[in-house]
Amino acid sequence: MFHHDVVVVGGGLIGLACASAIAREGLRVVVVASADQGAASPASAGILAPTVGKATDATRALAITARDLYPGFLEALAERTGLHVPLDRSGILELALRDAEASALRASLRSGSEWIDDTELRRLEPLIAPGVGGVLHHEDGAVDAPALLAALTADVRGDPHISLFDHRVTGIDAAQQPLVAELAGGERVEADYVVVAAGAWVGSIRGLPRPLPVTPVRGQMLAFDGPRMRHVVMGSRGYLVQRGNSSLVGGTMEHAGFDAGTTAEGAGLLQQLAIELSPSFAHRRVRAHWAGLRPMTPDLLPIIGADPDFGRLFYACGHSKNGVLLAPLTARIIGELVARGRTSVDVTPYAPNRSWKIDR
Ligand SMILES: Cc1cc2nc3c(=O)[nH]c(=O)nc-3n(C[C@H](O)[C@H](O)[C@H](O)COP(=O)(O)OP(=O)(O)OC[C@H]3O[C@@H](n4cnc5c(N)ncnc54)[C@H](O)[C@@H]3O)c2cc1C
Repeated sequence: MFHHDVVVVGGGLIGLACASAIAREGLRVVVVASADQGAASPASAGILAPTVGKATDATRALAITARDLYPGFLEALAERTGLHVPLDRSGILELALRDAEASALRASLRSGSEWIDDTELRRLEPLIAPGVGGVLHHEDGAVDAPALLAALTADVRGDPHISLFDHRVTGIDAAQQPLVAELAGGERVEADYVVVAAGAWVGSIRGLPRPLPVTPVRGQMLAFDGPRMRHVVMGSRGYLVQRGNSSLVGGTMEHAGFDAGTTAEGAGLLQQLAIELSPSFAHRRVRAHWAGLRPMTPDLLPIIGADPDFGRLFYACGHSKNGVLLAPLTARIIGELVARGRTSVDVTPYAPNRSWKIDR
């Protein structure tokens, strides 16, 4: 039996960012992380798009806060690790290829986003398909998700307050004090606090006091060779994003259980989508094809906070399509909650016992 201040279950972007934030509050943390095929974080496109879509005012404000934490978050990470994670804040272009899309986009414009005509759109991004205009989301952009995961891993490995165990947590007993995490090999880890950040697999942990409605939704991505796109480009069915010398296209939304394999059908769909957004993709070579499992909730919002009945058990899961965007904010919230028992952020929309609404 080992004892730590805090056990974090899961070693994706969310678990690592939370572990780092908690350790900087002075607590000793163990991250127990298994290497499941299909983890979302390394598969992610890394788009930071809080102003795209139809979020409520409260959830949009939280997402904008998350985005705006990024520059300082990456700067501090670079100071600790020497690793500089590429961040693009040059704006996202949301294309309207048909009149109906244009009307819907124009009707939903909010502050921080501006309608621009096709000529201006092509001046900003010469490679896009002819359309009827689009929206420039000025402050949004993208982060290099695999580089971020590598930097957070280095951060956690280099922190004397954090240990990293390559194990699977099979069960949690939150009724005991200290709490107990049971590992697949039969070992038990005791801790004063447990943070559950197990991505799409959270439902397989025995003993959690409440059911968490998190299901895996597979996303496939393709990487192409070819000329650089200057912006993240989004259409109604998917997106293009530049990462280093590759242009990525994503992402499918598939209910395939825990199957994280790629398919020829997925590749065909993504190729079609890329050409629809930019005809230049018709002649580009596919460099890589991969898939990951999004941890999806019914309302697409994460579950962040203490269990209402067991105040030393915390959830940081169900980040759905926005886990990269929300990683620094989640880490701040969990770091504050674990170390101080309260957070400066209004986390009501993320409450573990909220009533669940249908997909937006
Ligand atoms: C194709 C694709 C594109 C995406 N694009 C974007 C995007 O552009 N922008 C954005 O913000 N988000 C995006 N996302 C979503 C984002 O990637 C996720 O929301 C985020 O990565 C979730 O992070 P996580 O740490 O919760 O989960 P994961 O990265 O899946 O990590 C969970 C980890 O926990 C481990 N684990 C699970 N169960 C246990 C256990 N019992 N014991 C120990 N360890 C365990 C797993 O092995 C895994 O490593 C995308 C996702 C996909 C798949």
